[in-house]
Amino acid sequence: MKPLIGVIPSRICNEATDSYQVRAVNLAAITQNGGTPLILPYTEDPAMAESYLSLVSGLYFTGGCDIQPELFDETPIPTLGELCPSRDAFEILLYQKAAGMDMPMLGICRGVQIMNVAAGGSLYQDLGAQKPNAMVHSPRGVGRALPSHTIQVDPGSRLYTLMDAETLAVNSFHHEAVKEPAPGYRVTAWAPDGVIEGIESTELTFSLGVQWHPEDMLQSAPVFAELYKALIAAAAEYLRKQNA
Ligand code: MN
Repeated sequence: MKPLIGVIPSRICNEATDSYQVRAVNLAAITQNGGTPLILPYTEDPAMAESYLSLVSGLYFTGGCDIQPELFDETPIPTLGELCPSRDAFEILLYQKAAGMDMPMLGICRGVQIMNVAAGGSLYQDLGAQKPNAMVHSPRGVGRALPSHTIQVDPGSRLYTLMDAETLAVNSFHHEAVKEPAPGYRVTAWAPDGVIEGIESTELTFSLGVQWHPEDMLQSAPVFAELYKALIAAAAEYLRKQNA
């Protein structure tokens, strides 16, 4: 049986067209690497979140909009981007319950940011405003699959084990970033300007996030599929233990 991976969609909160959306490359990344994606509409009802977690064996936190700074005890700065409070609330609820169950999780871009906030860490709201020496992390008019900066990977990390390289060229479509990693997490990768590009849990069996978008680079950088294979292998093991 292919493990079910819960995928958190974006929500287009325009009143007239209130709807959910997931870029198809996210779903393909899961199906092509041995998993079955299941898109999870938001809820703030703990019982419904528990229903989701009784079905799936892993979670995939996708990219998307900015995160409410109040969630990491800051007030918004003027260059903060678009928010989706219902998504923040759902993802934090889901993360905290899933972490309590030691369910495998992978976060991409906003995904690594919300996992970090849910676990008690903080973010830069806008690198341009808050980290003056930061490189360009959100280039304009650049194709999704094109790398725009390198990262250094900590050779002691699980990320290194998966990527088998200390330097990677990655795409970059973010202006927020992890500032203080959450308790129980370690930094696994940095851009040349010191911006954090990866974190992973030192306590949970598999909880890992990256700041770039591997789902868009699977053709040009096939090694990035290892992130999905690892999530799905961890989910299969989680499922096996549940059924034991
Ligand atoms: Mn970047």
